[in-house]
Formats: sequence, C-alpha cells, structure tokens
Amino acid sequence: MFELAKIPFPEVARIVQSGKALVILPVGVVEEHGAHLPLGLDSFAAEVYAEVAAAHLEEAGYEVVIAPTVSYGVARAAIDFPGTLSLQPETLKSLIVEIGRSLARHGLDRLVILNGHRDLSHMKALEEARDVLVEEKTAQVLCVGFTSDAEVTAACYREGVRELSQSVRPEREGHGGEWETSLALHAFPESVNKEIIGRLDPNFDYDVEAFRNETKDYGSLSGGRGYFGSPQSGSAETGRKIVAIRGRNIARVILKALGAAPSS
Ligand SMILES: [Zn+2]
Repeated sequence: MFELAKIPFPEVARIVQSGKALVILPVGVVEEHGAHLPLGLDSFAAEVYAEVAAAHLEEAGYEVVIAPTVSYGVARAAIDFPGTLSLQPETLKSLIVEIGRSLARHGLDRLVILNGHRDLSHMKALEEARDVLVEEKTAQVLCVGFTSDAEVTAACYREGVRELSQSVRPEREGHGGEWETSLALHAFPESVNKEIIGRLDPNFDYDVEAFRNETKDYGSLSGGRGYFGSPQSGSAETGRKIVAIRGRNIARVILKALGAAPSS
C-alpha cells in the first residue's frame, strides 16, 4: 500500500506500469460530532477503513495507492456548531472530478471514492462526480462507504457490525453515538475528550425520520448536544472490531464490482 503524497514519481510510474493500480480516495468533512469527538472524525474514519481495505485488496493482487484525503465536504445539518465547515455541493463535485482527471492523466484510472460522511447532498455530489468521470471515460470509478445506495452503505458499514452493539437502543445509534465513539477510542484516542463521555446522557428520543432525511438540523434534533445515541456505550474494543469488519466489508464491495486485479 502506498500513500500517493509520500512516494516519488518514478514509483507512480512503476505502479501504473504493473496494470494493477487501484487508487482509494478517502473523503470526509469537518463537522461537529458531539463534545467528546473531533471535528475531523469522518475523514479519519475513511482513512482508517482505507488502510484495512487496502490490505485485503493487495491480497487480491492490486497495487493500492491511497490518495490524500479530501477533508472538506458538504455539512449542512451541523453547520451551526462551531467549527463545522461546508462546501457547496458543486465545489465538492468539481474537486473530485479534477482529482480523478489528474490521476487518470498518469494512468491511475481505477478509482474508489471511500466516503466517511453521511449527508445527502455530500453523497450526491460524489456520485455526480463519479458519473462525470465514467461518462467521459476518464476512469473506472466506484463510490463506497456512505453512498445514496442503501445496499452499498449497508454492505460496507452495517454488515456484521450491528450485533456488536452494547447500546440499549442499537437502532437509535447514529452520528457521534456508540459507533463513532468506539471507532475514535480505538483509532485516534488522543483526539477524544474521554473525561466527559461518562456525563453524556443518551440521546435516544430524537426524530429519526428528520435525522435520516435531513429535514431538521442536528442542533435542534439533539437539543444542542450534537450526538445521537449513547456515546457511553462505545469502547475501544468495539472500535477495533468495527475497523476490521468494515475494512473487510469495503474490500469485498470493491472486489465484487471490479473483480480481482488483472494478471500480468
Ligand atoms: Zn460522522
């Protein structure tokens, strides 16, 4: 597995020459995740899953290149919380299209967009970028992680994960709740405000439909708390399992769509 920003150009040429190159572009956002979690959580999550998925993809013969994370996205639901940043969907779409075109110019034309942020306009912008790149025959492009396609999202993030829940209301766990708290406690514990987790009462009684359909903002839906579910149910151990399972899930979704690497 290579990080594009950390290798020199001849290495890129070699990888392209192999015919087995596959680029993963992690995408996140800068958005509040409750008072206990960092604003960059969705970007960090995409990076963590990319790394685990990359190991599985390499077993299937690919030379995996991880492109620098797109850490800015569309985050309208949480925009009133300090620090949350949002692009216009058009800006995100253009950014992804231009990254895809640049990669393909050098022969890196197998691209997986791994999105860690659930927001309807954000996901749509990524998928529109994919469609542009595919229609103009720039690259083979796949959207995984959080996507508008509920089946893809479930296959990446939910399969094998739900049974790990320690929450009394697993179906109410969402943004900033058990799952994201667990992931953070495992993968980037130094960025978690652990002292306050014990004081964060569960937020179960929110309008789930409004949350899913983004018809109300996170501030009003969570009474200003910014999280959904119970951060207290999270643990580093659950996080460790989630990372392994989701990384494998994501690799499976990619391999199902692209097949194994072409033999040289
Ligand atoms: Zn998130």
